[in-house]
Amino acid sequence: MEIIPGVHQIEGVNGNCYIIMGDGLVLIDTGLPNNSKKILAYVHDTLGSIPSDIETIILTHYHLDHTGSAYELWDATGAKVVIHENDADYVSGITPMPVPGGFWGVLYRMFKIFLKYKPVQPDILLHDNDRIAGLVCIHTPGHTSGSICLYDPKFKLLFAGDTLRFVDGKLQGPPPQFTPNMDQAEQSIKKIAALDFDILLCGHGAPLRSGASEKVKTFSQSLS
Ligand SMILES: [Zn+2]
Ligand SMILES: [Zn+2]
Repeated sequence: MEIIPGVHQIEGVNGNCYIIMGDGLVLIDTGLPNNSKKILAYVHDTLGSIPSDIETIILTHYHLDHTGSAYELWDATGAKVVIHENDADYVSGITPMPVPGGFWGVLYRMFKIFLKYKPVQPDILLHDNDRIAGLVCIHTPGHTSGSICLYDPKFKLLFAGDTLRFVDGKLQGPPPQFTPNMDQAEQSIKKIAALDFDILLCGHGAPLRSGASEKVKTFSQSLS
């Protein structure tokens, strides 16, 4: 699905996965494990590109539904893998991914074994305000300590990862059961509410296409 010319969302991949076409292709997030075939089929069939045209894979945070196919895609494309430094050791397997408590933890463990996550070695570690492939890295900790949003000032887009969700026509913060520091996550939402963007592209849910930054501002004012 083309969001604006040169920016695509690959449907059927969860969490959401986006491609920006520039000199090379930039992939934002990779969905759960076993999505690489679907992503590469889209690159071939819809964009008329080959796997090695993907030069950069940016991960908004370490969670499995965003990094699950990163290894397979790195292997198929040779792209540089990019993530905020605070989340890097989880994707590389140096630090085990934390398991949520209670019911979600049980589900997560089953899920992880079933899906067979393969660690991937990041090539570039991001910090707040770094620029990568024409995007500005906005560090938005809370959901994870290395969560980022990616701001495209030229096309006025904000890729929000899981810092915000737009589901059933409603803006929401990250799911509390998977967010160890909700206060920090809310501060992060206030931080991105200061940016000027037309379209918000979250890690889950549909694109928010009109007056996005105004809506995020209103939502952020409703937070404590
Ligand atoms: Zn997440
Ligand atoms: Zn997610």
